Amino acid sequence: MNAPLVVATSIDWAAVRADFPLLTRLVHGKPLVYLDSANTGQKPASVIETVDDFYRRHNANVSRAVHALGSEATESYEAARGKLARHLNVRSDDLVLCSGTTFAINLVAYSWALPRLQPGDAILLTRMEHHANIVPWQLIAERTGAKIKVAEITPDGTLDLDALYAAMTSDVKVFGVAHVSNVLGTINPVREICREARRRGIVTVVDGSQALPHMAVDIPSIGCDFYAFTGHKMCGPTGTGALWARKEHLAVMPPFLGGGEMIKEVRFDGTVFNDPPHRFEAGTPNIAGHIGLGAAVDYLDALGMANVAAREAELLAHLLEEMRQIDGLRIIGTAKDKAAVVSFLVEGAHAHDLATLLDLEGVAVRSGHHCAHPLMQFFGVAATCRASLAFYNTHAEIEAFVAALLKVRRLLG
Ligand code: PMP
Repeated sequence: MNAPLVVATSIDWAAVRADFPLLTRLVHGKPLVYLDSANTGQKPASVIETVDDFYRRHNANVSRAVHALGSEATESYEAARGKLARHLNVRSDDLVLCSGTTFAINLVAYSWALPRLQPGDAILLTRMEHHANIVPWQLIAERTGAKIKVAEITPDGTLDLDALYAAMTSDVKVFGVAHVSNVLGTINPVREICREARRRGIVTVVDGSQALPHMAVDIPSIGCDFYAFTGHKMCGPTGTGALWARKEHLAVMPPFLGGGEMIKEVRFDGTVFNDPPHRFEAGTPNIAGHIGLGAAVDYLDALGMANVAAREAELLAHLLEEMRQIDGLRIIGTAKDKAAVVSFLVEGAHAHDLATLLDLEGVAVRSGHHCAHPLMQFFGVAATCRASLAFYNTHAEIEAFVAALLKVRRLLG
């Protein structure tokens, strides 16, 4: 991962963990071992308190009211946009706040791609995309006559870069790629890939959902056209996230949804739309959620993303080492550059049975297709179990998980 080799010693990780109230609870009478952060992350008290404080003391709608509460809500909402922008090293005005990655990619698909693509054009996607970066493109392909092309991976779960560049033919107009795979943990070399795509005039859409929780992301240095992400995997509330887009794209994109907030003037004979990013933020947004996401960014910035990445690299190394004790273990996704996400199967045991029995031991892992059917098809499996770590996990939890897995393995024979 993008991590320094040495773990910062100045951080008291036990104190960091204590910031997350939920992690102290019991599940089925056992201490919770939460290994499902790739699905959704837990929230520090500062985020929970910020949302609580908004509803207790400041609740009002944004942008419409001139009264004190309205100004406070608007100021805090826009301040959150500013915090996110600084975190990603981009301009606030190029950041469209929305409900998350799914919305963000649909916004690119319907507002940018739909008016531009035509029969004979191609949309290039990788084998490891989440359904959120596949299905919107299929819908657009159906409506425009464009076709979908797939960039394949190697058996260890790495993008085959030679095949990818060969697939970037002149018919390809847009390329969607996950920064980090939610199933394999593979960290894709998005900077290099986007440079190659841009050289060929291909517009790039990076799905950053699984990158932002784990590492520092500097969007301009990636050089993509669009970067989509979700807030709830990076310590923020659910229903939050954003689309960052190059200014020149936002400037020419028509609105995706119409309604209040996204207009300058409405007449029955025509409407003048607002400037970006507000043009793409119709209706009342998730005000409290985004203010909470601002608090999450404050929290992560105070920890330092390099420290987060280093901590998780250390936990991942321990997890992989411990898992070697399990007979019949198959790890799916062994790329060299890998975030703390481990998909696995145990010979003779169904993924759902494993996850159900682990739950009885207090261990939360996800089982299923992880919204990545084409990836499951590539590996010839219907489902996997996935243990995903965050900086708030502990070495003791990793040992508890592996002990529970050994026990469950024995039970399943
Ligand atoms: N892309 C990836 C890589 C993801 O992991 C997820 C969430 N599982 C999504 C997209 C969709 O995010 P959301 O449901 O928050 O829109």
